Amino acid sequence: MRRLIDESDIRDEVTALGKQIADDFQGCPLTVLGVVTGSIILLSDLIRKIDLQLRVGLIQASSYRGRTTKPGELTINTELLPDIEGRDVLLVDDIFDTGRTLSGLAETIKHHGPNSVHTAVLLWKEDCSQVQFEPDYHCFKIPEVFVVGYGLDYNDDYRHLPYIGVLEESDL
Ligand code: IMP
Ligand code: MG
Repeated sequence: MRRLIDESDIRDEVTALGKQIADDFQGCPLTVLGVVTGSIILLSDLIRKIDLQLRVGLIQASSYRGRTTKPGELTINTELLPDIEGRDVLLVDDIFDTGRTLSGLAETIKHHGPNSVHTAVLLWKEDCSQVQFEPDYHCFKIPEVFVVGYGLDYNDDYRHLPYIGVLEESDL
């Protein structure tokens, strides 16, 4: 597997993102909402870099990728969602690819009465977007390749890798 982004570069960017979010949400009732499962590593690192009082919650989304590297239909499960009425929500996900997941989640969340909804991702495949929607915060822009590690999976494998690697045809 080819390494695309090293552990130390991820750490630097996540630290900078945490500072930026702390500046932007000062005095706001912030709820950082991680998208299960891909965001878990970013979520746990990022919240420790946001020097503010905040709440953490989870929401589940899946686009049935399984053994393919192409997205399918989006399903959202709000069973884990905490009360976000009147709160400023920051949705955190691993990657913005077609954008269908985050734009769909942002729409769903708006029905739960938040004061505002913003989005943050580790990776942004800028050329792959299929929606009129952009993440408010991102750490790295990447080309159209299938990546794993730091929460990102292929058929539920590789999430634990501390770096971002490119999965090549020979790895599938
Ligand atoms: P989107 O809805 O197309 O933006 O896709 C977002 C979801 O697809 C992410 O939350 C990931 O779970 C998954 N995904 C998209 N691109 C990749 C990738 O390169 N590697 C692993 N998962 C990906
Ligand atoms: Mg995934």
